[in-house]
Amino acid sequence: MEFYILTIFPDLIRCYTEFGIVRQAIKKGKVKVEAVDIRKFAPKGQVDDTAYGGFPGMVLKPEPIFSAYESLLEKNRKPYVLITEPWGRRIDQRFVEELTQKERVAIICGRYEGVDERVKSIVDEEVSIGDVVLSGGELVALTLVDAVSRLLPGVLSEPMSIEEDSFRNRWIGYPVYTRPREFREMKVPEVLLSGNHRLIELWKLWHRIENTLRKRPDLIPEELTPEEEDILESIRRGMSFEEWLESKSLS
Ligand code: SAH
Repeated sequence: MEFYILTIFPDLIRCYTEFGIVRQAIKKGKVKVEAVDIRKFAPKGQVDDTAYGGFPGMVLKPEPIFSAYESLLEKNRKPYVLITEPWGRRIDQRFVEELTQKERVAIICGRYEGVDERVKSIVDEEVSIGDVVLSGGELVALTLVDAVSRLLPGVLSEPMSIEEDSFRNRWIGYPVYTRPREFREMKVPEVLLSGNHRLIELWKLWHRIENTLRKRPDLIPEELTPEEEDILESIRRGMSFEEWLESKSLS
């Protein structure tokens, strides 16, 4: 999959892609990330200008962005074109999964007061990271590159972990622990040390459901399995996991 990120700060993109999973994905040839420097397409390097109408702040000019975009078309088929906007479609896991189906994605990163509206004529979709105003679109573009990269087959060394991810699974994540078993009198739950896989799976499910109920009740699925229904009700009644196991004679 190819990403072309149109930006006036290409070094921001290069920096992030040199680390972690994104770097791995690039090294394995699963994803290509090219920072396209808008400034290189601007006569005399001028990428912004004052806004018509006397609004405060500067606006990114259309010509360099069009030229940068057209330079992509010379080499390749038309990419799917996104632009970062605070009011755009909110990025979520479903959107990221949709993007993995595209071969080539261009992301135009706004700066200053925004991008000249005429640029929208080459844009397929406006995307947002959430109801917050950033100073530029680069973090949003990198968010997409990052989230897409880890989903591409062959990128993660533990592909099963994707299936367990929040938003992919029906419930959000469960708490995780590592060594030491006891730290400042806080102990790792016994079940996780037991080696009993059935109990460990139940523990995970219980804590996923508990996390979802307490932190993101809006994500509770509409259709529940009898087991999920039972766990959810038990948590609502104030039962602990251990008490629930005992009530089922499972402990
Ligand atoms: N004048 C704009 C804010 C401009 S912020 C307004 O009134 O909303 C500068 C640029 O940063 C934007 O053009 C956009 O490309 C990017 N940006 C800022 N916040 C964003 C967000 N939440 N999601 C996506 N892009 C954002």
